[in-house]
Amino acid sequence: MPELPEAETIARGLHAAIAGQRVQRVRVHREEVVEPMTPAAFRRALTGRRVQSVSRRAKWIVASLDDGARWVTQLRMTGRFTWNPPSALRTEPHLSISLLLDGTQGGGVLRFYDIRRFGRVWVLDPAGWSALDARLGIEPLSREFSRRSLAGLLDGSRAPLRNVLLDQKRVAGLGNVYANEACYLAQLDPRRLAQDLDESEIERLHRAIKTVLRSAVERRGTSFSDYRDILGGEGEFQNDLEVYGRSGEPCRRCGGAIARIVLAGRSAFFCPGCQH
Ligand SMILES: [Zn+2]
Repeated sequence: MPELPEAETIARGLHAAIAGQRVQRVRVHREEVVEPMTPAAFRRALTGRRVQSVSRRAKWIVASLDDGARWVTQLRMTGRFTWNPPSALRTEPHLSISLLLDGTQGGGVLRFYDIRRFGRVWVLDPAGWSALDARLGIEPLSREFSRRSLAGLLDGSRAPLRNVLLDQKRVAGLGNVYANEACYLAQLDPRRLAQDLDESEIERLHRAIKTVLRSAVERRGTSFSDYRDILGGEGEFQNDLEVYGRSGEPCRRCGGAIARIVLAGRSAFFCPGCQH
């Protein structure tokens, strides 16, 4: 499932490809992808609009349109964009939406595919976007995400540390891959209660979250199976994972075996030898 680094990579690719271009035609191949909008309302909201920029918020892709609206995409499990030279809009397996864009530097067709069908694509007016934005937590790569703000998010929480990091209302964009990796880098056991971390542990965790996410953005994300950038390229961070998906393999820090447990319904990976 794409997390912050994958969404960031896709958003940057989309910005380079479609910023400044105008949407000429829209086809909705699967109605559920735009719910609760209707396909007609979605087409109306996008057709004729110029895309001003494309960025990321949490795990969402957010395109700003020239009428002030935001076209937002939640990739969820398997949502994926492709960008190709202009061609007829056609129907294909797993194709949810296609858009014909036309810019001064040549347009193209943007397609959104989704095998598992959990992805969602909407157009929100400024008030709708503000409401969504307000429900999301702090951006961990922003200046506002300080040691002190992290301490505030952990304070008083009796949930395991890894789970608090997954809560999008607290820290936006971290998912299971990078939450586990951050705990490893900070040498913290993901089962620890968030409220029990002392000041130096919070400092380590704060640094680890920033380091893991920055490296993963630099490596264009982690590709296990479905994630690709908009030109079909794979990320490279899967080669740098220390714990995620490595249960039974040796820890590169202490040589002990990486463990996998189920924590609140989801896998947690960590090294019992050097994460405390
Ligand atoms: Zn270890």
